[in-house]
Amino acid sequence: MSKDTKTDTVTHLPTTPVFIEGRVIQRCAVCGEKLYDSLQQEGRYILSSEDAAGLPTYTVGACVRFRDGEVVEAFGVPPNSDMPEDFCIALVEM
Ligand SMILES: [Zn+2]
Repeated sequence: MSKDTKTDTVTHLPTTPVFIEGRVIQRCAVCGEKLYDSLQQEGRYILSSEDAAGLPTYTVGACVRFRDGEVVEAFGVPPNSDMPEDFCIALVEM
């Protein structure tokens, strides 16, 4: 199938969360989309690295598929990096 087929989902590849200025932020390693922000999702500042460690960030290096901002599923990178058609690299190429 073509990589530019329109789907209602998008799959991102979370990178290492950053704990800074009382927030934990996790972005996609490929397109840069913000996937997790503790201030938005927890509604509070994070006070310690122990507190940060307990947050529900995404597994680094796993594929996470979203629909309308909600997680649909998470799965490992396919063999040979044969990424799904909704992989966000299509957004990078725009
Ligand atoms: Zn992405």
